[in-house]
Parts: sequence; structure tokens; C-alpha cells
Amino acid sequence: MATSIHLADTLKEKGLTHRILLIEKGSSIGSHILSGAVIKADVFKSLLPDVEFSDIPLNSIVTSDKTVLLSENGSFTLPVHVPYMNNSGNYTASLSHICRYLAKIAEEKGVEIYTGFSVSEILYADGKVIGAKTIDTGIDHNGNKLENFQPGSRIEAKLTIFAEGTRGSLAKQLIKKYDLEKDKNCQVYSLGVKELWSVPEGNIKPGEVYHTMGYPLNLKEFGGGFVYGLKDNKVAVGLVVGLDYEDPTFDAHDAFQAWKTNPFISKFLKGGKMVEYGAKTLPEGGFYSIPKLYTDNALIVGDSAGLLAMPALKGVHLAITSGMMAAKTAAMALSKNDFSESMLSQYESLINDSIIYKELYPVRNFRQSFSKGLILGAMHFGTQLITGGAGFFGRLEAHPDSETTKTLSEFKGKPFKERFKGKLEFDKVLTFDKATDVFHSGVAHDEKQVPHVRINNPESFNTINIKQYGAMEQFFCSSEVYELHTDKNGHQELRIHFENCMHCKTCDIKSPGDGITWSVPNGGNGPDFQNM
Ligand SMILES: Cc1cc2nc3c(=O)[nH]c(=O)nc-3n(C[C@H](O)[C@H](O)[C@H](O)COP(=O)(O)OP(=O)(O)OC[C@H]3O[C@@H](n4cnc5c(N)ncnc54)[C@H](O)[C@@H]3O)c2cc1C
Repeated sequence: MATSIHLADTLKEKGLTHRILLIEKGSSIGSHILSGAVIKADVFKSLLPDVEFSDIPLNSIVTSDKTVLLSENGSFTLPVHVPYMNNSGNYTASLSHICRYLAKIAEEKGVEIYTGFSVSEILYADGKVIGAKTIDTGIDHNGNKLENFQPGSRIEAKLTIFAEGTRGSLAKQLIKKYDLEKDKNCQVYSLGVKELWSVPEGNIKPGEVYHTMGYPLNLKEFGGGFVYGLKDNKVAVGLVVGLDYEDPTFDAHDAFQAWKTNPFISKFLKGGKMVEYGAKTLPEGGFYSIPKLYTDNALIVGDSAGLLAMPALKGVHLAITSGMMAAKTAAMALSKNDFSESMLSQYESLINDSIIYKELYPVRNFRQSFSKGLILGAMHFGTQLITGGAGFFGRLEAHPDSETTKTLSEFKGKPFKERFKGKLEFDKVLTFDKATDVFHSGVAHDEKQVPHVRINNPESFNTINIKQYGAMEQFFCSSEVYELHTDKNGHQELRIHFENCMHCKTCDIKSPGDGITWSVPNGGNGPDFQNM
């Protein structure tokens, strides 16, 4: 959205006219948007110079900001901020609301917005990107055309900008085709699960912000919780868990439910009602995991490019900044009618001169340091703070999240269900099973379509994923897409209920072996987030 707005503005300044098309798979703008969020909102002053800052639908300025260490039933508020976690001057917000507001502005500036269109294919000619195609619809489970078959639209463009958010399904193909990850670390991710609650007056004030460390995660697991106070007695609560965990039975949704039972958290929710649920992954590899961001006729922005500052849990202002830099580059390319890689390389220079580099370079080894657990990670991070990010060992490698899980027999820790014994009987007042939560995301998919999640190799899936890892998909999925079915002869298979899918992309990231590929379903399918 930021890319299109800034491109419309820049083209106008240069006296140029070009069509700008923005294509969104959600049924409406914002319906697939989920964030925390506490936002570094100054970025809107550069994006929307003509708009009164107070008109932007931010929720509340942060009035109090604390980091709290949790045990199962206890809590300890840290006397100081953890580095990079100071939120003074930032705003709590619903990113869905902001995107809807930005969409109006973009349309006023002439951007053509097409919602409910899933882009499923990159178009190429002579080995170069020439646009994209939306998904064919009216196809049954097996790929047969039905009466209502509609071929997707081919959209040819001088420049295609990939802004698909985390683990973009097309950006992934683009990165692979042009080897854009060459000499870079692989991307690594967290999964964030979130609920929005309506609570009695007095439970929490708008602008009160808490981040938690510790329970329900152990010293080997990376992540933490958040509690953000919003106007009108709403509160956003969530748990973000690094997907490099080892336990094949780990379940982030259920861990989030256990987290809410800690008295420090449950007091904010007491007497309230959960109104919305959702989940999404976040790219957290940082600076060394940023792929090359351009190729002939194409640029990558935002989370698809891995531009997220994990120590601060912030990506919105960086996504907006990258969108603006991409727009500047696009305007230059349009004015010269040159979309070659060498022309578009200016995008990288602009990024390196922006807050993106300033925020990500000093913490370039942050996430990798925690791959060996919190204690070593914290020590290592300490050395990075005094060496400008280098630490003692220079660039640290990252490992794909699909490779960090132990098999059932290798895993020697306490399995998830034993760890949280007594915490997983959900009372549907404070804690919820997945089915109830999924119901609160408004998720819906057309029944007749090719399933958009696909087991890549059914044979190896059986021997590796089911036998060795115990079908961990059934646990890591935040929305009950995967069910392990055992027939009366003891034969096991994974059943896929794609209609529940929240588009969080965890399966595409965490599934071991040949894994699972997530692609887009029919346009307009998926969650229907209102206030996330
Ligand atoms: C739980 C959680 C908490 C977070 N908290 C914060 C926070 O407090 N502060 C902060 O600054 N950041 C936070 N972030 C990160 C922040 O939300 C992201 O960095 C930011 O939203 C990235 O913006 P984006 O435009 O790149 O991607 P997105 O916001 O994900 O938008 C991508 C859009 O592209 C659409 N799309 C994707 N693929 C296709 C396709 N093939 N065809 C058509 N449309 C497609 C999607 O439907 C979506 O609408 C959080 C993230 C999570 C998950």
C-alpha cells in the first residue's frame, strides 16, 4: 500500500502518468492483515506529508511500557528496558484498520486496487519477469474444470513489485529462480498467535504495553508474549514463538492458551470476551537473511524481503520504508523506461541509506545467537551490543526451521503435552481450543478448488513426517488444517482441512523432509480479520 501511494505521489511530481495496480488476495483490504501492533508511526509523516497525523487511525500513544519475566504462576517486572524494546513515542494500532485507511488514500491518488484476487503465478518472457497471473477458478479438487471455470487474469507490467508479506509464495519462487539468496543466510521465522479481547473498563488502559519473557517457553525456545492496551476497552494479546524449536509435538496455539493462565496475563482478560483470533509468521533472520531485492523488472518489499527488526518486534515501519524506496526506484525506472537489474539496483542503495540498514545492521547477529538457547544467546547478544553487532565470531549462520526439529526418538526433552499437563483443558472462557479460535477468525474457503496446501512427496511424507516426526503438522498448525487419521488396520495418513487455513504459512516453513508447499487459494478465501 505504501509502495503504491508513494509511487503515485512521485509520478505526479515528475509529471508522469502510469497505471498502478495493487492486487490483494483478501476479500477486502485488511482482511488478511494481522500484526501486534505497536508501531513506530513517524514513518507516516514521510509517507503522507499532506495528511494531518491525527487523521491516521492509530489507536493510542504508548503510555507505559514494561518487560515482564514470567514463571508458570509468577511474574517479575524488569526495572529496565531490554535493548531495542523501548516503545516511548510509538503507538498501539490495528494494522487492518491502517491498511483500510491507506487504501482509501491510494484510490484517491488513482491506484487501482483489486481485492479478492489471488496471484498464483509469475509471468516470464525471455527468462525475465513480465508480470503475474491470478489463479484459475472453477476447478474441482482434482484439477478438473467445472461449469463456472474462469481462467485467471494475465497482468503484464513493466515492473512487478512483490509485497506478499511473510514467506511470500511467489517471492519464494522468484528468490529460487534467480538465486537471490546466494551468499545470504536462509530466512528463519517465528509464528505469532493473537487474540483480540473486549474487557471490562479498568482492566487495562489504552497505550499500556507489556512484553513478556519466560513462561510458557523454556530456555531453549525463543520468543515471548505481548499485551497491548487499546481504546474502547480492547486488548490485543499474543505469543510469538521462534520456529527453530526442537520438540515435534510443540503447539504454539496451545502454548499461547497456557500463557494466558499466568495471573499476570489473566488479570487483563478477567470478565472479558475474546472477539477475534488469528496467526501469522514473521521473518526474523535479520540483515544477513535479506535476499538480493531486485532482478530485471521486479523488486521485493516488506516482510517478503525479510525486512523486520526482531529485537524490537517491528516490521511495519520498515515495510513502509522499503515500499517508499521501491516506489522511488520505480519512478526513476519509469522515467528512463529502463527496468534492468542495473537500474533497479538503486533500490538496494536507497535501502542501505535508510533506517532499514541503520536498524538491522547493528543487530545482524541477533536471532542467530539465540539458536543455541536463551542463556548463550543473551551472553552472545551482550557481546554484540559492545562490538556494534559483530560479537566475537563475526557473521553467524542460520539454519532452516524445517531442519531444527528432532524426531520423536531423538527428542529427549519433556514432550509438550506433559509440560503443560492440566493447562490444556480449555474452559472456553479464558482459554480456547483451536476450533473455537478458528471460528473467531472468520476463515472461509470455497469447497471446490485444488487444495492450496500440498504434500510435496507423499511417499517420504509417510516414512519421515508421520513415522519419525509423529505428524508434527497437526501440532504446529495454528488452525487445525492437519489431522492425523488412523484407520482400523493401523494405517496412518494426514488429512488436510484446507478450509480452516489462516494463511500463516507455518507448514511451508516448518514441515520437515520434503515438506509442504503453501500456495494461494481462490481469491477472497482465507481469514476475514476486522481489527487485527
Ligand atoms: C503476531 C505479530 C505481531 C507483530 N507485531 C508487530 C508490531 O508490534 N509492530 C510492528 O511494526 N510490526 C509487527 N509485526 C510485523 C508486521 O506486521 C509486518 O512486518 C508487516 O505487516 C509487513 O508488512 P507487509 O506489507 O510486508 O506484509 P503484510 O502486512 O503481510 O501484507 C501482505 C499482503 O499481501 C497479500 N498477499 C500475499 N500474497 C499474495 C498473493 N500471492 N496474491 C495477492 N495478495 C497476496 C496478503 O493477503 C496481505 O494482505 C508483527 C507481526 C506478527 C505476525
